[in-house]
Amino acid sequence: MTDAVVVGGGPNGLTAAALIARAGRSVELFEARDTVGGGCRSAGLTLPGVSHDVCSAIHPLGRSSPVFRELRLDEHGLEWIEPPIQIAHPLDDGRVALVHRDIETTIATFENGGDGAAYRRWMGPVVADWELIVRELLGPIPIGAVRHPVALGRFALPAILPMAAVARRFQSPVVRALLAGCGAHSFLRLTAPMTGGLGLALLASAHAVGWPIPRGGAQRIADALASVLREAGGRTTTGVAVRNLAELPPHRAALLDVTPRQVLDMAGDRLGGLYAAQLRRYRYGPAAFKLDLVLDGPVPWRDARLSSAGTIHLGGTFEEVAASERAVAQGRVHDRPFVLVSEPTRHDPTRAPEGRHVVWAYCHVPNGWPGDATERILRQIERFAPGLRDRIIAQHVTRPANLEVYNANYVGGDINGGLQHWAQFFTRPAVRWDPYSTPDPGIFICSSSTPPGGGVHGLCGMHAARAALRRALR
Ligand SMILES: Cc1cc2nc3c(=O)[nH]c(=O)nc-3n(C[C@H](O)[C@H](O)[C@H](O)COP(=O)(O)OP(=O)(O)OC[C@H]3O[C@@H](n4cnc5c(N)ncnc54)[C@H](O)[C@@H]3O)c2cc1C
Repeated sequence: MTDAVVVGGGPNGLTAAALIARAGRSVELFEARDTVGGGCRSAGLTLPGVSHDVCSAIHPLGRSSPVFRELRLDEHGLEWIEPPIQIAHPLDDGRVALVHRDIETTIATFENGGDGAAYRRWMGPVVADWELIVRELLGPIPIGAVRHPVALGRFALPAILPMAAVARRFQSPVVRALLAGCGAHSFLRLTAPMTGGLGLALLASAHAVGWPIPRGGAQRIADALASVLREAGGRTTTGVAVRNLAELPPHRAALLDVTPRQVLDMAGDRLGGLYAAQLRRYRYGPAAFKLDLVLDGPVPWRDARLSSAGTIHLGGTFEEVAASERAVAQGRVHDRPFVLVSEPTRHDPTRAPEGRHVVWAYCHVPNGWPGDATERILRQIERFAPGLRDRIIAQHVTRPANLEVYNANYVGGDINGGLQHWAQFFTRPAVRWDPYSTPDPGIFICSSSTPPGGGVHGLCGMHAARAALRRALR
């Protein structure tokens, strides 16, 4: 009998499998597609020789992840590239927020001295406690953080605020726009509780560890995890879409890197009652609409400094970004949506043949949205990079429905494994002391539908592996 089976080879499934194998238990991972990686894959979507990040591209949480560090992914081929500027957010009037690793260099780009002091006050403690926050707060209900009451207190208040409340403490439109862009990573309207905490945490990560890209693309993270798993004796079978746990070889524990809807399907009548009812009520969030471009030259940014940034937030002022996210919450797509852009070839020439440039961009749309946001995304980029269209030589569009076909975890195109709402943050996927376990002692959930949610960090996999090792694999 195999000790553990893992269903799904995303970053969380791979991390869970690697930790279980390294703990000396036998483990076999089953992945529906022909390669592992899930939301952490690179592929040739357009022209020969050009590699696109199919899903994730920017990895502040990956670089912060204590478990990625523990697994020594650097010894398995992962190399982080840190762009000179972590985040840029331009406005129409030519002003631009530029986030550097150093807080003081960042503040020097703000035109308002009062904002600089406020930024230092909000950001300083979170950056100082960043390791602790990732270790103790990004997981199940943070019991461990009680050992650090000062750090917990310093982060707890800003963490629960909506970004709209945080931004009110700042005067300058460019700083307020920057905050809006970071808060919008929640996929929620900026008046929602915890959007301030999420945005500030992401900003703090830019100072603490940077917003890096992996040399060679996101696939390198998955490949490194797969290499750790192989080295520890774990086995991987690809091309198998598991429909029911009964199809799998006999095992003591099953760890599922899938979302509640699929957990219910796979478990059949092994999960019932109140728990199954909670999984059925689990809420999925808005979707991504993604556009990949190949250009015959770099993006012609009006402000040349944007070319040094790893991530560019396009959406104008705080009010515009807020309106874009509000529209999504109301089931619409704004004419000027908030767009996240990265141009990896600026920092990593391995992604495309010489002279070719890759653009990764997406905006938020309602779950399952059937429309086409291509033109709106292009208009937003052209707004800050006139002449972009003349450089496009290939493009690839991924709609919410395509995302779900590509990866069954992206229900309706939701890339975070469920709504990142405060009410679902610590209790995803169900109200339970240990959210990785289920009422069936042999079934565990390790996907981003568990705390701390979406992103390539492996923390859901880490917590689930620990739960399985404590319980079924003792
Ligand atoms: C467009 C886009 C942009 C993103 N940008 C970023 C970013 O810049 N930075 C970041 O950190 N994160 C980003 N993300 C989010 C990130 O990709 C996910 O949060 C992360 O991959 C979740 O990891 P996971 O292991 O929980 O699940 P997934 O990565 O979704 O992996 C699940 C795996 O399970 C497999 N599977 C599903 N059902 C079955 C089945 N029945 N049988 C067998 N296998 C199955 C799937 O094929 C998949 O390989 C982005 C995602 C998308 C789509």
